[in-house]
Amino acid sequence: MTRAYFSLGSNVGDRGAHLALGVAMMSEDQPYRVSRVFRSEPVGGVAQDDFWNLVLEVTTEESPHVLLARVRATEAAALRTREVRWGPRSLDVDIIWMDNVTCDDEELTVPHPRAFERNFVLVPWRELRADLVSDEDIRRADGAVQVLGTLETLH
Ligand code: AMP
Repeated sequence: MTRAYFSLGSNVGDRGAHLALGVAMMSEDQPYRVSRVFRSEPVGGVAQDDFWNLVLEVTTEESPHVLLARVRATEAAALRTREVRWGPRSLDVDIIWMDNVTCDDEELTVPHPRAFERNFVLVPWRELRADLVSDEDIRRADGAVQVLGTLETLH
């Protein structure tokens, strides 16, 4: 058994519904914990809505590549839930960390090489793992985030 951490983000359509679908599909009958939901501004300069982000912890026996297959199926399912508006980032899921597991091949890098650069990952992740994310990490990382509330109250 290990604990795996996923960063989930949505900036299209019903963002709370997309995050809730992501949590349900990625946790799938395994014990899990979830951070609060945070709002973050999109990076890259393209005009688009703010993101809603959270971090999910799942206790699992699955390998990194099995989890990546679940990530892809979850993102595909979120695309199929589109409503009036549609976009490529209805749900983005990244594997950010697995306890005692590293992986680096053409398909998958764990820990995620950019996890510590982004506050929309670090701030929610610290709610679950204060031992892994320091104040200094958050000061160094990019982007302001604002707490919105729990997924239950938002969805
Ligand atoms: P994107 O959705 O644009 O962030 O890219 C997704 C692709 O990045 C996936 O299909 C993976 O093959 C690759 N990838 C590499 N490392 C990771 C990771 N730690 N978590 C999720 N996807 C990853």
